[in-house]
Amino acid sequence: MNPSFSSYLVNDVFGDPGVYVDIRWSRRALLFDVGHIDGLGPTRLLRAGEIFVSHTHMDHFIGFDTVLRVALGRGKTLRLFGPPGLIDNVQGKLRGYTWNLVDGYPLTIEVQEFHAETVRQACFRAADAFRLSEQPVQPLRSAHRTDGFTVLEDPMFTVQAVALNHRIPSFAYSLEEQFHINVNKQKLHESGLRVGAWLKDVKEHIWLGRPDDFRFTVALYDEHRREEREFVLGEVKERFLTITRGQKIAYVVDARYDEENEAKIVALAQGADLFYCESPYLDIDAEKARDRHHLTARQAGLMARKAHVRELVVFHFSPRYTGQGEALEREAMEAFQGF
Ligand SMILES: [Zn+2]
Ligand SMILES: [Zn+2]
Repeated sequence: MNPSFSSYLVNDVFGDPGVYVDIRWSRRALLFDVGHIDGLGPTRLLRAGEIFVSHTHMDHFIGFDTVLRVALGRGKTLRLFGPPGLIDNVQGKLRGYTWNLVDGYPLTIEVQEFHAETVRQACFRAADAFRLSEQPVQPLRSAHRTDGFTVLEDPMFTVQAVALNHRIPSFAYSLEEQFHINVNKQKLHESGLRVGAWLKDVKEHIWLGRPDDFRFTVALYDEHRREEREFVLGEVKERFLTITRGQKIAYVVDARYDEENEAKIVALAQGADLFYCESPYLDIDAEKARDRHHLTARQAGLMARKAHVRELVVFHFSPRYTGQGEALEREAMEAFQGF
């Protein structure tokens, strides 16, 4: 299987938390949290048109300025999703600068904040000096999981969230590919067809939910010529593709360890291929972790085990353990593997 998402931590495990997800086949990326993100560089930042914010403590949000700086003047829509208060926080950031010379810039910043039953939406346009413009409040679309809700539904993937207790709501996110499309290269080859850009169109049609009798024309190339050929979607699927379960990634940061949070986290991360989970403290300091509304490495490992994830990645280590990163890692992995 050729995974559609390729993801990685934005920083070192002791640095500001954040995960960058590249989406293959499309020149898109998603970003979970915007702490210190300079390391990503302008090209990758520009590709990340959707940003999911857990909460706006500084280490998760200070990079907003970096994103804004890169996006300004380059014409794109930036979409941010997060907990109540996010619109105010974005507005506060934007108000920190003077905007008298940006009216020709096409940048629009859309923000959605998710409340218990509603979604508040606002947008800020460069052309309007980034003044707040509120849109009608929408009802929240709840998901099946424990208190989970849908944040973004895309033809190719769904992002869901759940609000965890961090003394303020801290959102945990899951990203799930709707399904995965595998191409049988052998069969393509036998039919005299090549792997190429036309397969991207095929995938697009499937993600958009086009019916099996849908007909489309693609341009095929070989060394000498260009040939237009018509395909029927159902036929292509049957002959060359297998559709399997999609990839799933879960992202959990700042949260206290308690029964309610645990149930929400385990439900959200259930069956994930990759589970990014904060583990700032060693379990010997569990009381301190609880006071600070954070998890320990052992707690992260135990939840990963309960959620039957395939791989656990721990991060957001507290600077108090500088030089002891391996101990945090080991404690999490031992709990995950059931030692
Ligand atoms: Zn926090
Ligand atoms: Zn944090």
